[in-house]
Amino acid sequence: MPEIPDLEAIRGFLEPRLRENPVVGVDLTVPWLVRTGAEGVQGLVGHEFVTLRRYGKFLLFATDDEQLLVVNPMLTGRFQWAQASEKKRAGTCLTLRFEDGHELRYADARRMGRWYLVPVDSLMTVPQFEELGPDALEVDEETFLRRIRRHAGQIKSVLTNQKFIAGIGNAYSDEILWEAQLHPHRRRSTMDEDDLRRLYRAMRSTLEWARPILEAEVAEGLYQSNEEWRAHLRVHRKGGEPCPRCGNEVKSQVRGGSETNYCLHCQPLVLG
Ligand SMILES: [Zn+2]
Repeated sequence: MPEIPDLEAIRGFLEPRLRENPVVGVDLTVPWLVRTGAEGVQGLVGHEFVTLRRYGKFLLFATDDEQLLVVNPMLTGRFQWAQASEKKRAGTCLTLRFEDGHELRYADARRMGRWYLVPVDSLMTVPQFEELGPDALEVDEETFLRRIRRHAGQIKSVLTNQKFIAGIGNAYSDEILWEAQLHPHRRRSTMDEDDLRRLYRAMRSTLEWARPILEAEVAEGLYQSNEEWRAHLRVHRKGGEPCPRCGNEVKSQVRGGSETNYCLHCQPLVLG
């Protein structure tokens, strides 16, 4: 699932390419992908996107006629920026064609992603949006500390709770907790202020660390295959490999189809 560093890289790649490059065609092969405003999607033709922002796990494309195309790629949504002549990938659900001959294609193997087209002042009508906490790249340390005290449970679940803060998922929560040396199943209620401040700083430094790595990934082009950008991560999906900090074996636990990885030596489980 794309998280903040992935979506920031996509945003940074696309925004300059969309500017002054009007939409000349829309192919929507899976109409129910667009949950709100599907009937207006053809109305994008003739308009251009003036800004591309990210909030949490959503990308927000604002048009020159004050509409907002809101995209949550969920688990398997993938973007491709291609020349019209390039072969389309299987599972392409939506294609925006641009004046300069490029296409922004969206493929989604499990078709769980959600698109919405709403007036720019109606963002809060997008399901889930009103409930989102502050973006993890924007939230300041004191706000983070104040908000996290309302959540007593396992710290990995807290970090990935979009109502607490938005934009962190399964992969980067493992990375952040490894950086902060906190066990993913440790309860927030057992943590003192030093732990929580260390967690906040680890969150910021991990997201900043990943940024240039992912910018380099997309520099040559945006063609996200079904593999995500996860090779650079230090513990996530690295079960059985040595911890880059201490050399002990990285642990792997799979629950409900999602994997959690950590180093028990660097991240001891402290019970409350
Ligand atoms: Zn370790």
